[in-house]
Amino acid sequence: MEWEIRFHGRGGQGVVTASKILAEVAFLNGYEAQSIPFFGAERRGSPVVASTRISTEKIRKRSQVYDPDYIVVFDLKILNSTVFHRLKENGFVIVNASKKFEVEVDKSVFLVRVDATRIAIKNGLFLGDLPAVNLPILGAFLRVFPKLDLGSLEKLVSERFGERSAAAVKEAFESAVIEKVCGRCGRREVKVCEDGFVKAPISKPSVGVVETSLWRDLRPEINYDVCNNCLNCWLHCPEGAIKRRGRVEINYEFCKGCLICYEVCPKSAITFSEEVVA
Ligand code: SF4
Ligand code: SF4
Repeated sequence: MEWEIRFHGRGGQGVVTASKILAEVAFLNGYEAQSIPFFGAERRGSPVVASTRISTEKIRKRSQVYDPDYIVVFDLKILNSTVFHRLKENGFVIVNASKKFEVEVDKSVFLVRVDATRIAIKNGLFLGDLPAVNLPILGAFLRVFPKLDLGSLEKLVSERFGERSAAAVKEAFESAVIEKVCGRCGRREVKVCEDGFVKAPISKPSVGVVETSLWRDLRPEINYDVCNNCLNCWLHCPEGAIKRRGRVEINYEFCKGCLICYEVCPKSAITFSEEVVA
């Protein structure tokens, strides 16, 4: 699997640094990663674009990102049709904005709003005299990219930019507001669970009609000490083998051991072992 992220900002906002940090964090989490800057007029305030690719396989592409799954926008004033160009349907748009804003887009998107400027100022993060919005905005990005561990981002920025940057990243992660916006009908709805995870409309699982337990070589198990009941595993299980009655539970009659639940769990609460047949 590969995910493509395009950053849009202005010279002096740390756009390229954010793209590089994200690639490093992805690498630290076991993924292949790539960061590619693109400079126009090289001066403060002019538009800057950077691309990051994250993949489970080797990355052969060497181009900018043209069809992003995610776009990250450092400055609300540059959020226009150019920025949305070729964003995938149901793609994610992470924007530095202090309040709700109108968005003109011709498709369905997940809009993630974070007040990165306020968080940067509060934590004393500056690039020259500009608030360093690039670090908090990465925290907000991780809210909708749970494959990367927030702790690894906090550690990296703390080592490189000081402890307050880790606090800023965490605050942005926790305070980001996520909405699903339909550009065709204008409908907007908040898609966040109480515990802060996105409810992505991926599937409505139900239990399969064929018992698939005999297909299983590997047996997933949920560690309830770590699980926060975010429902990611329930949403992604292709067999509908995860029940949600108060808490998520695996139905081993139908679980085929594909370990998708293990892959998508943002808390690493699912472990697996070899199946033992009696
Ligand atoms: S096991 Fe993981 S993915 Fe499933 S609900 Fe718990 S934390 Fe979420
Ligand atoms: S391994 Fe996980 S995702 Fe796969 S069928 Fe079993 S419960 Fe569902």
